Amino acid sequence: MIAGTKKKAARGGGKGRRSSAARAFLESAKKRPNLVIQTEALVDRILFEGRRCTGVRYKHGDAWVVAKCRRETILSCGAFQSPQVLLRSGIGHRTNCQSMGSTC
Ligand SMILES: Cc1cc2nc3c(=O)[nH]c(=O)nc-3n(C[C@H](O)[C@H](O)[C@H](O)COP(=O)(O)OP(=O)(O)OC[C@H]3O[C@@H](n4cnc5c(N)ncnc54)[C@H](O)[C@@H]3O)c2cc1C
Repeated sequence: MIAGTKKKAARGGGKGRRSSAARAFLESAKKRPNLVIQTEALVDRILFEGRRCTGVRYKHGDAWVVAKCRRETILSCGAFQSPQVLLRSGIGHRTNCQSMGSTC
């Protein structure tokens, strides 16, 4: 994948490497104090208070972890997994949600 608009990012950091979203965007941002990168985490569902998204629940090793958000949650699990997370969270047609384990 060629990511980013700058030539350096598109080449993968200027070392002739093929780029990726991680190389193009996360690499330069990972030192930010307000950013936590959690690898090996599998998002199960989006959490709500009423109609407002308040975070996500994910599995990390054997533990279930809740990540809370104050402002917004961006779901970017790809073309197949994003709809699955939404269905598990109760967003979608009732029959499809229930087939994904949601109790909506
Ligand atoms: C064969 C192929 C070649 C392509 N070539 C190009 C190209 O040359 N240039 C270009 O611009 N685009 C290309 N694309 C398109 C590009 O890859 C996609 O548009 C882009 O990757 C979409 O980014 P995304 O972040 O939405 O999803 P993805 O890149 O699919 O990333 C989703 C991420 O979410 C993770 N994930 C999934 N489910 C969960 C979960 N439950 N919990 C936690 N994490 C989860 C996945 O492991 C993955 O890392 C190509 C696509 C394919 C399939």
